[in-house]
Formats: sequence, structure tokens, C-alpha cells
Amino acid sequence: MKITEKFTAGKTLFAFELLPPLKGDNIETVFDTIGRLAPYEPGYINITYHREEVKLIDRADGLLERRVVRKRPGTVGIAAAIRARYGIDVVPHLICGGFSKFDVEDALIDLHFLGIDNVLALRGDNIRGERLFQPAANGHRHAEDLVRQIVAMNRGEYLDSELEHAAPTSFCVGVAGYPEKHAEAPNLAADIAHLKAKVEAGAEYVVTQMFFDNARFFAYVEACRAAGITVPIVAGLKPFTTKTQLSLLPQTFGVNLPEELVRAVEGCRDNAEVREVGIEWAVQQGRELIAAGVPALHFYTMGKADNVERIARALFG
Ligand code: FAD
Repeated sequence: MKITEKFTAGKTLFAFELLPPLKGDNIETVFDTIGRLAPYEPGYINITYHREEVKLIDRADGLLERRVVRKRPGTVGIAAAIRARYGIDVVPHLICGGFSKFDVEDALIDLHFLGIDNVLALRGDNIRGERLFQPAANGHRHAEDLVRQIVAMNRGEYLDSELEHAAPTSFCVGVAGYPEKHAEAPNLAADIAHLKAKVEAGAEYVVTQMFFDNARFFAYVEACRAAGITVPIVAGLKPFTTKTQLSLLPQTFGVNLPEELVRAVEGCRDNAEVREVGIEWAVQQGRELIAAGVPALHFYTMGKADNVERIARALFG
């Protein structure tokens, strides 16, 4: 079922995001997480996509060998396995990074054959050590172009224009939005203009980057509406878990941390206490967002379910 058909006025959905396990790990770790969160009736589950990384290996002759590795493969397989086992709708992420347009088309054909009709279309992060995003040969530079390709397939237009009577797909496409602007955008207005282009290309809803100050989310929604973006905007929440996140989260995701949260975290003796602060903060954020009628709360689990389970119990139990 398309995610947008699940958004109903007056009811906020519980949703969360999972990472595929590290290569070599068992899928049971994913199932354990879902087993703990399933009682809170998630409307859908997102599965992230992780591009390749470059590893330098020390060789016996003293030289370095450059090896390209994908540490967390399996997004499409996990999405299908979750759907088959739990009957919960899934939203695999699809990225531009490392993908040619032909790879994208093949991934979409796999998803279509598996009966998965939701995707979150993203540019993807830069490869580690790369200052500016570089698209793959014959790949997309921006999520907007990826959205266009998916929407074209929904019209039955594949890359091979000689195909006759190609089967149209029926993907519902979501895209990312940044209440505190994307790190590379010159300003919020420019970033919102690019978000609008993604929606005009065919994206049907937006999921936001994490934020810790609801006022910033509400202001963002208002700015998007003023810019003519009318699609549902899902709120992304991440529970705080460690003291190092005080510098790590602003550095990695460009988010601003409210003074009250910073003081509470700094006052903790250890990370067990920080987790408690993080749970309490996320519950407060969630209550206000639900009262405001957001279509869904999208939790970034980072593969750990215990804190999100407690938050879900408080908000959706
Ligand atoms: P884009 O929409 O392409 O935007 C990237 C930048 O380019 C922005 O600054 C934007 O303003 C600008 N821009 C956009 N379009 C144009 C244009 N036409 N011309 C000029 N500038 C433009 N990363 C992963 O690798 N895997 C994941 O699974 C993943 N999941 C995510 C889930 C969510 C909910 C979010 C919010 C992010 C996720 N990310 C993931 C991170 C994301 O890939 C990065 O934030 C990436 O840097 C930007 O992706 P985007 O889709 O927003 O890119």
C-alpha cells in the first residue's frame, strides 16, 4: 500500500528506520528490533541504503591496496523479508551515489517484482573522503533526477526507449527535507526551492532530517507551505544517546541543539543517564508533534530498539 494512502487527518503514524546489518551479520538482529517495535503498530518501516566505501589495505610489500567495499548490503532483500514476515509496509531507500541510471532501473524492477511500491529517493552521502558529491558514471547528481526516473517508470518509460508496451510501475516516492537546511545549501530558501523541484518532479511526501527543537520544524513546514509545497511532511526524530553526540550531531547533520537539552546532557554522569534524557526529550517532542497533527513520526533507530521502544510505548502504546 502506498504510504500516502496511510496518512489520515487526525492520526499520526508510528514509523521507524532500520539499517541493514553489517556484512556477515545475521538478519535476526533486524528481526529482533522489529519484534520489539511491532506491538506499537508501525505504519511502515524504512530501510536505509549504504553506498560503497574505499578501504586502504596494508600489503605485505609495504604498499597500500585500494579496495571498494559495501559494508551494509541487502536493502532490497531485507525490505522484502520484513514485508513477507510481518506484513508491514516497507520503504527501501534508493540513492544516486554509486548508481548508474541502469542500476537504478534494475533495482526498481526488482522492487516492482517483489510487490514493493514505496521508495525514498535520495542523493546519498558523499563517499568517505570526498569533499563534493560525485555521481557515478551515467548516474544522477541530485535526488530530483532520481525522482524523475522513478516517475517516468510509473508511466512505463524505461531507459531503453525501444521497449514496446513496457509495464508501468506504481511507486509512491518520498524525498528528504531539512528543517535546518542541507549542509551544502547556501540558505534555507534555496534548499526549499530544490525541495519544491523534487515535489514538482513527482515526490508525494517529505521526511525531514532529525531536529531537536520543534519550533524549527513548525517554521520549516510553514516556509514550505508558503513556497507552495503542499505534500505531507513527516517529522524525523532521533533520541539522544551519548555525550559525544553533543558535537557529533551538529557536525554530521548540521542540527542545532536547544540549550535546555545541552544542559541536561552535560549534567549526566554517564551515557545511561544521557539515554534517559534522550527518551524524555523525544517523548516531549513527539507529544507536541502529534498534537499538531503531523502525518507520521519517523524514528532514526540506528539499529537499536530499546530507547525507541520506550518512546513508542509512551506515544503510541
Ligand atoms: P538532494 O535533494 O539532491 O539535495 C542535495 C543538495 O543539493 C542540497 O543542498 C540541495 O539544496 C541541493 N540541490 C538539490 N537539487 C538541486 C539542483 N537541481 N540543483 C542544484 N542544487 C540542488 N543517505 C544515504 O546514503 N542512505 C540513506 O539511506 C539515507 N537516508 C536518509 C533518510 C532521510 C529521511 C534523510 C533526511 C537523509 C537520508 N540520507 C541517506 C542522507 C542524504 O542522502 C544526504 O543528506 C544527502 O547529502 C542529500 O540527499 P538529498 O536526497 O536531500 O539530496
